[in-house]
Amino acid sequence: MSVTVIQSGRHARKRVRMREMCGTDELRAAAGEVPELLRGLLAPTNVDDLDTNELDEVTVSDRDRLLATLYTESFGDVVTCRNGCTRCGEAFELELSMQDLCEQMMAGGDGRCRRGAHGDYATEAGTRFRLPTLADQSRLTGLPQERTLAVLRERCVEHEADGEDVEELMAEVGPLLDLELSATCPHCDADLSIPFEISQFFRLAMARERTWLVREVHRLATSYRWSLSEILALPRSLRREHVALAEAEAAARRRRT
Ligand SMILES: [Zn+2]
Repeated sequence: MSVTVIQSGRHARKRVRMREMCGTDELRAAAGEVPELLRGLLAPTNVDDLDTNELDEVTVSDRDRLLATLYTESFGDVVTCRNGCTRCGEAFELELSMQDLCEQMMAGGDGRCRRGAHGDYATEAGTRFRLPTLADQSRLTGLPQERTLAVLRERCVEHEADGEDVEELMAEVGPLLDLELSATCPHCDADLSIPFEISQFFRLAMARERTWLVREVHRLATSYRWSLSEILALPRSLRREHVALAEAEAAARRRRT
């Protein structure tokens, strides 16, 4: 069970309790079905915990923090980015900490915006807006890339005052885990800028694990005779403990023969 406190939008300061992912959730994550994944994981226990009918109003900024929580629960704090150098073409890995990335994400902002009672924001100069939510994002599905920004502005920006940049203000109060990281190529010393975007990174990490998940299902199905749906419903850590037991028993059997 993890708890993340929402920091922006209508439900700011609500707690999001999520149960541990099971195999079905991992397959959803690998397919990039983030809203469905989060909806299935919510486990509210108190009145002020976020419940499923409030999920659509969660901001994209908070969604990124929820994905960071899920990543850390499944893989630990270490983030490994695999890159190709744009100068020498060699591949290399960059190791980062998810906690540091989240701190980088939340840094910045000079407090120009005031948050209103309904989760909207306003500046002294008169810019008024709210942050994009999961509901806004679902409306963008299927739209051509060049239309998405215009549609988001139509939905979220009430007024942009002269001399203010509403996208900059949105990034200040609702930053995304979408960063440009500095790195040096270990092969040719080139200074590089590495893009890191959490929803894509999380989806790829879960997609890489899919092969292991299929093997674990096979191992448990042959050892315990459990059905596919029973195995996919096991919490990830419990499934892995059973796989370790089944593997140990199979190894002991091989040694005896
Ligand atoms: Zn290089």
